[in-house]
Amino acid sequence: MSLPEAFVDRLHQIVPRDHIKAILKTFDTPKQVTFRVNTLKSTPQGLETELTAANIPYQRIQWLEGAYRISPDDKLRLTQIDAFYQGRLYIQNLASMVAPMILAPQPEETILDLAAAPGGKTLMLAGMMQNTGWLSAVEPSRERFFRLRANLETQGVTNAHTYMTDGRSVGKKCPEMFDRIMLDAPCSSEARFKTHEPKSMSFWSIHKAKETSKLQKRLLLSAYDALKPGGKLLYCTCSFSPEENEGPLQHLLQRHGEHLTTLPLSLPFDNIQKPLERWGKEVFDIRIQNAVRILPTDTIDGFFLCLLQKKLC
Ligand code: SAM
Repeated sequence: MSLPEAFVDRLHQIVPRDHIKAILKTFDTPKQVTFRVNTLKSTPQGLETELTAANIPYQRIQWLEGAYRISPDDKLRLTQIDAFYQGRLYIQNLASMVAPMILAPQPEETILDLAAAPGGKTLMLAGMMQNTGWLSAVEPSRERFFRLRANLETQGVTNAHTYMTDGRSVGKKCPEMFDRIMLDAPCSSEARFKTHEPKSMSFWSIHKAKETSKLQKRLLLSAYDALKPGGKLLYCTCSFSPEENEGPLQHLLQRHGEHLTTLPLSLPFDNIQKPLERWGKEVFDIRIQNAVRILPTDTIDGFFLCLLQKKLC
């Protein structure tokens, strides 16, 4: 099945012209499989010993200790070893590992993961916090909530508190409570489209992206309310659509811009793009230029990230 025509048209308007061919190709090709060691249960050395014993050839990811990639042909075997079942490794796209790296939670802090299931980022946050402090993980979908809970248990997370609730209500319930907030927003998942998996794109439409944008705006406002003065908020999506990226940030800055700054991001690879300055008739706040769009390759998914900080007063 080919990509939706309207999606391809929009992609031409969003990503740099000289990258479009390579980007379109990534939707057709099976990606390298990436995973990381769970530092709550093992170490890079320990996991490498297990991979070698299982005869699984791996390559280290140079910019992230304890992260690896293997050929898609070896994925099945990776999911058959004890380290997988017993939670010493977690399979996760590299783009998703970048998000906790940027939010950089510290031990003993109070952290909120506002859209948490299945928990890939929550697990990494807990590891970085060394299971200390307080980590709230929110997920309203019942089925996904129980998957999140199961993942936290398998991976030995003990500092997380899970809530089956709508993230839009959290800001009012917990005003100015958190040092750092991860908002990995529900989105149209455009970066996860695969032409060999028609289901991955069967629900997509421009209308859907615009509808999702309304939810993202409300989640961002809720996250803003829940953030302590001086605290940091990471907004990210796996969508290319400006309606889901620059748009919700613009909305937040229009409402609370006098209390917010954005922080420049420095990523350890160069397949990145600056955010758009405008989309249609809308000209975006200059502060959004500190965000980053990751352009997909055969190893990393497309992603959008923006780090905000609430001013102290
Ligand atoms: N952070 C997760 C991870 O790394 O594994 C992935 C999160 S996924 C992109 C977005 C999640 O937001 C989905 O699990 C979805 O069910 C959840 N969601 C949808 N509506 C929500 C809402 N109103 N409040 C909070 N979460 C919501």
